[in-house]
Amino acid sequence: HLPTAELQALDAAHHMHPFTANAELAAKGARVIKSASGVWLTDSDGNRYLDAMAGLWCVNLGYGRHELAEVAAAQMRELPYYNTFFQTTHVPAIALAERLAELAPGDLNHVFFAAGGSEANDTNIRLVRTYWAAQGKPEKQVIISRKNAYHGSSMGSASLGGMTYMHEQGAMPIPGIVHIDQPHWWAEGGDMSPEEFGIARARQLAEKIDEIGEDKVAAFIAEPIQGAGGVIVPPDSYWPEVKRILAERDILFIADEVICGFGRTGNWFGSQTLDLQPDIMTIAKGLSSGYQPIGGSIVSDRVAEGLSRTEFNHGYTYSGHPVASAVALENLRILDEEGIVERVGTDTAPYLAERWATLAEHPLVGEARICGMMGSLALTPDKAARAPFAKVGEAGMAVREACFANGLVMRAVGDRMIISPPLIISRDEIDLLIARATMALDDGQAELSR
Ligand code: PLP
Repeated sequence: HLPTAELQALDAAHHMHPFTANAELAAKGARVIKSASGVWLTDSDGNRYLDAMAGLWCVNLGYGRHELAEVAAAQMRELPYYNTFFQTTHVPAIALAERLAELAPGDLNHVFFAAGGSEANDTNIRLVRTYWAAQGKPEKQVIISRKNAYHGSSMGSASLGGMTYMHEQGAMPIPGIVHIDQPHWWAEGGDMSPEEFGIARARQLAEKIDEIGEDKVAAFIAEPIQGAGGVIVPPDSYWPEVKRILAERDILFIADEVICGFGRTGNWFGSQTLDLQPDIMTIAKGLSSGYQPIGGSIVSDRVAEGLSRTEFNHGYTYSGHPVASAVALENLRILDEEGIVERVGTDTAPYLAERWATLAEHPLVGEARICGMMGSLALTPDKAARAPFAKVGEAGMAVREACFANGLVMRAVGDRMIISPPLIISRDEIDLLIARATMALDDGQAELSR
């Protein structure tokens, strides 16, 4: 019950924030979020914001679902913790693993749990290398990823990621991880058509595998739609060509579904929307709608069988945490029984796509891209030339601040504005989102011309 300024002072004095220059935060004061319901956040001064980011792309079910709180409380009373090491297990982890095997495409039938996406991707690094060693191919170690990808913040997962500003801060990437270019036509396509560019970028995978040698490559990892890189929806030609390349080569494909999973693209998984059949999927975020920290790797029959006689010396205290598992299971039940994933696919995502496209007419917007409930706007000083701003990030920051002033949370990635709203957003709330985004673009543009 302290006043906002006091909370901000305590926060600045004692709380180190992720992805933040903390001195800047001390000068400005963090926004203190107090409560939330549906798609709405309320701050400590009573201001309300439409959360078009679902927190950090995770509150798929929306805020304030008391069923999840009740399941958590009941599970805490019955069995608040037990581990899944050394041949022990418990009902919530069993039930969740079984449900995930049902939902995941193809023969992805086996789940290794973690407490989030970074841990799950660290698991994947160890898992694919251990798998190949168990097949008598210990030299198959290299993992190919993409520039500008985000796969987490631990040393392993940030090495999988292609964010150079992260690599520079931590002597990364760790050995055996290499990056190819991303399929980002608007920024990097030059004179090529999107289709030509998609094929060219996909073929970099074949070239990289051939350069390293197929006998040394363990896996390729990618998000179906690159999220934190700026919601990069690839040209239609990209994934079919990647699939063709993977089908001809014996390497594993890891789809990072941390953002794309659990309804975000209008199907349970982005791999279904993009017609992909991964060997491993990374999951987190929407698995519990962010109500509990939980993630994991869903693994195919082939990979699980290939590992089954090897002790996999890897695991986390909170692998399959009973409370997180029970909450995730309840989240999946509600997403399913209330038809939320289906409604995104058939109703609200097509409606959002129609409305989102209108923002491309704004003078500041070079392209408006969207897939399901994840969208992006490229801000530009010159639409025809697809030109970047001279000072990268200034326009994004101006529009982001204008969003807050207009009661909307959108994220800026450099000069790309991105959204990923809760999947329960209604058509009326979508109209409001578009109206507020338009006002924020107008205000941002006015700020830039000052
Ligand atoms: N993978 C992707 C695609 C992500 O977007 C993220 C987080 O944003 C992660 C992995 C890391 O997940 P976590 O923050 O739960 O460790």
